[in-house]
Amino acid sequence: MVQRGIVTKGISGKFFVQSEGQIIECFARKKLKKDCIVLAGDVVDFNLSECVIENVVPRKNKLIRPPIANIDRIIIVISCVPEVDLYLTDKLIIAAKLNNIEPILCFNKIDLDNDLVFEIQQQYSKADVKFLKVSAKSGYNIDRLIEIMHGGLNCFAGQSAVGKSSLINAILGCDYSEIGNLSAKISRGKNTTRHTEIIKVRDFYIADTPGFSLLELDNLKYNELKDYYDEFFIYQNDCKFSSCTHIKEPDCAVINAVNRGDISSSRHKRYTEIYFDLKKEQSYI
Ligand code: GDP
Ligand code: ZN
Repeated sequence: MVQRGIVTKGISGKFFVQSEGQIIECFARKKLKKDCIVLAGDVVDFNLSECVIENVVPRKNKLIRPPIANIDRIIIVISCVPEVDLYLTDKLIIAAKLNNIEPILCFNKIDLDNDLVFEIQQQYSKADVKFLKVSAKSGYNIDRLIEIMHGGLNCFAGQSAVGKSSLINAILGCDYSEIGNLSAKISRGKNTTRHTEIIKVRDFYIADTPGFSLLELDNLKYNELKDYYDEFFIYQNDCKFSSCTHIKEPDCAVINAVNRGDISSSRHKRYTEIYFDLKKEQSYI
C-alpha cells in the first residue's frame, strides 16, 4: 500500500517519514536515488509494507545549506541585544523571496526595549514583510506567532543569541533542548554531527536546522536586486531611465521618494550596499 508522508529527518540513507500520526523508518528505492536525493521536508509516497520511498512529490523549493525542501515561511528573529544587524536581515528577506519563502520579521525581547522596535518597524512599514513583536520571556504574542506558523513548514533564522531557541521552547511549551535535536548544542565541540530535523507541532512543522546560511544570493543578478524591494514598485515607473537601478541616476523617482521620506533611507542605504557587494562578486565571474 502506498501512502503519503513528510520526511522529518534523513541519516545515512535512512529516512524518517511522518504519516498519519506515525513515524516510519524508510529507505529510498534505488532508482529514485539516481534522480534525486531525498531531503528533510520532502513530501513522499512510500510503500508502507516494504518501508520504501517510491516517489518524491515536486518541491516548492530546495535549500542546500541547510539541506531542506518545501519551506513555507522563515521567521527572521531580531532583537535589541545583541546589536541588531539589519544588513543581514535584509539579505535574509531577499534570500527568502528568491526561494519562494514568506519572510516574517520577528522582533523578540520586546520586554526589554520599545524605542528601537518602533524605529525598525518604521523602516519595514512599506516592505512586503510581516512584522511581529514578541517576547519569549513574557510570552507576549507567542499565540500570534503560532497563528502565523499555521499549516506549513517554518524555520527560524537570525543572529546568534537573539532568542531563536527560546522562541521554539515558548511555542512548544517545554524545553526542546531536553527532548530533541537542540541538545546537540550542548555537545558541540565533541564532533557531534547535527542533522536537520523537522518537528510537528499541532497543525504545523518547525525545522530545527543546524544553522541557516540561506544567505547565498548566488542566483540573484545585481541589477535584479531592486525587484526584491516592494517599497520601490509604485515609484519605479516614473524614473527617467527604464533601466534605472535607483542608486544614483538623475531623475530617479525612488531616490526622490527617499529624499521626501516616503521610502526609508536606511533601507535604501543598505540596498545600495548589497547592490555593490553583489556587483563586486559578480564582476569576478
Ligand atoms: P539563540 O542563540 O538565537 O537560540 O538564542 P537563545 O534562545 O539561546 O537566547 C539567548 C539569550 O536571550 C538567552 O539568555 C535567553 O534567556 C535570552 N532571551 C531569549 N528570549 C528573550 C526575551 O524575550 N526577553 C529577554 N529579556 N531575554 C530573552
Ligand atoms: Zn530610479
